Amino acid sequence: MTIYKAPLREYRFVLQELFDAGELATLPGYEEATPDLLQSVLEEGGKLCEEVLFPLNRSGDEEGCTFENGVVRTPKGFPEAYKLFREGGWTSLACDPEYGGQGLPHTLQFFVEEMVSSANMSFGMYPGLSSGCYSAIHRHGTAAQKRKFLPHLVDGTWSGTMCLTEPQCGTDLGQIRTKAEPSGKDGVYRITGTKIFISAGEHDLTDNIVHLVLARIVGGPAGIRGISLFIVPKFLVKEDGTVGPRNGVRCGSIEHKMGIKASSTCVINFEDAEGYLIGEAHKGMRAMFTMMNAARLGVGLQGLALGETAYQTARQYALDRLQGRSLKGDKFPDKPADPIIVHPDVRRMLLTMKAYTEGARALAGWVSLALDRAERHADPEAREEAEDFIGLMTPIIKAMLTDNAFAATNLGVQIFGGHGYIREWGMEQLVRDSRITMLYEGANGIQALDLVGRKLPMHNGRLLRRFFHPVDAWLKAHADKPELQEFVSPVMKAFARLQQVTALVAQKGMVDPDEAGAAATEYLRAFGLVAIGFLWARVAELALKKTNGEEPLFYKGKLATARFYMARVLPETNALFANIAAGAKSLMELEAEAF
Ligand SMILES: Cc1cc2nc3c(=O)[nH]c(=O)nc-3n(C[C@H](O)[C@H](O)[C@H](O)COP(=O)(O)OP(=O)(O)OC[C@H]3O[C@@H](n4cnc5c(N)ncnc54)[C@H](O)[C@@H]3O)c2cc1C
Repeated sequence: MTIYKAPLREYRFVLQELFDAGELATLPGYEEATPDLLQSVLEEGGKLCEEVLFPLNRSGDEEGCTFENGVVRTPKGFPEAYKLFREGGWTSLACDPEYGGQGLPHTLQFFVEEMVSSANMSFGMYPGLSSGCYSAIHRHGTAAQKRKFLPHLVDGTWSGTMCLTEPQCGTDLGQIRTKAEPSGKDGVYRITGTKIFISAGEHDLTDNIVHLVLARIVGGPAGIRGISLFIVPKFLVKEDGTVGPRNGVRCGSIEHKMGIKASSTCVINFEDAEGYLIGEAHKGMRAMFTMMNAARLGVGLQGLALGETAYQTARQYALDRLQGRSLKGDKFPDKPADPIIVHPDVRRMLLTMKAYTEGARALAGWVSLALDRAERHADPEAREEAEDFIGLMTPIIKAMLTDNAFAATNLGVQIFGGHGYIREWGMEQLVRDSRITMLYEGANGIQALDLVGRKLPMHNGRLLRRFFHPVDAWLKAHADKPELQEFVSPVMKAFARLQQVTALVAQKGMVDPDEAGAAATEYLRAFGLVAIGFLWARVAELALKKTNGEEPLFYKGKLATARFYMARVLPETNALFANIAAGAKSLMELEAEAF
């Protein structure tokens, strides 16, 4: 069986040592969110994840969701666990107190989401989708829509979805065919069409489901500019706010899929369903982007989460499993063999997992603090700066953390040898569950295009400067410290190359868009590796001061992993930079018929 213990010490490190989460309590409205409060909420959340959600992870995978006569049932134990989750206030953490929320920082929500997904990613999909739905209505809904829907999403008695995908369109949402006809009542439309792959589209956890549906108002412009966003509840809502008659929304079937089997993935048919326009007509993508951006960060966290569970389990296995002897002679002569952790190759795999996961958490912490600043800071310039940084980092969090999660969970299987391939250990489930994170919420290739095509040129490179400037300043300030040379020097070199290829990609991309497209995925990865390398250098600076103090093993672990990152992870950028420089020609010259 897999192992999961909430990484509370890691949270304390990221929030109180690497970054100063004390800053949160200085933001208007967050006065009570002191580091101690955050840590104690994380402790409570950790208990729920370890004791309630984690035990259902394997059984949920074995049993999956079932579909009969239009009704979807989640696996045994899920409804009871969801009730505990909801009653414990875990659906309302970062929500607006005006609608019953607790008004706590996004940073806290971020790491609670990580723990939930580590314990049971399928379970986390249900509140995860609701949270994105909440954000879109909160940001773009009318006062009446907010009053009607938000309190139920906040207390978790209703859940949410995002309905974008149709059979003929996933990435290319301009092809949406679901139509919206004005009903004659202001803002009320009749929605008809079929959506596929809708997570949490139907289930037995809540009294109502609030679908956010992208549809085209009849007669509206073709393509992406004619798409509008609608709230379409499963049950209509009566004047007094209670659940009324069934709306024209039915689940047609559920998908049988590779992983996250306890998360229902539904075909949802809308037949003349009552829907309410949210935001402006034909500007639905803008409103939906609020939800998608939140969801993209959430998916990145799912990646981090699965990497953590895989690492914890593989570490224990590597300490316990006795096979072969150390190349330098017996380490444990009294045992029939040495534990596999003595072998350099097993260490390579474990350290890669540790470097990816802890590096990802540091990056997530950096971005989550910016989310809170963007929402709450009193100074508009500070808010703008934080928003720019989040915009730049969102595709990196989504793609880099999920690519690394797949690699890490796969390494986890490798550490288990053949036992990793056998179901009972649970390691293969982590690989299967993690695979979707690279695909949904915009496949990772699309994230790379977002970074190169939208985020780099945005505001004449202003977003990019929000990353380049602080990194440059820190590196320069630490360049002369001899004890940091082994960390600062490789990051400085990779950072300088990143700046050069950024100019190259921008320049070549302006002449030939295929050049930007050809470089995008490798550029995003190189960017992510440098960003995380910068954070590992900062971690090393802290750890160097503490390896002789309390908790020496914790800080030695940090220092050794920072060294491993510089020696064996960051050099991957050399190959990536070479690939980027090679350009589009070798990809594009072969005509499609010749493949
Ligand atoms: C388990 C699961 C849950 C999901 N949950 C939801 C949900 O809740 N709501 C929802 O609306 N959808 C959901 N989806 C759908 C998911 O978001 C889409 O599958 C995804 O956006 C990709 O769309 P597609 O599958 O049609 O692939 P396609 O768009 O057909 O893409 C196929 C491949 O081509 C590449 N590609 C496509 N266009 C371009 C381009 N312009 N440039 C470069 N490469 C390109 C893609 O990167 C990808 O590798 C879910 C899917 C799954 C499997």
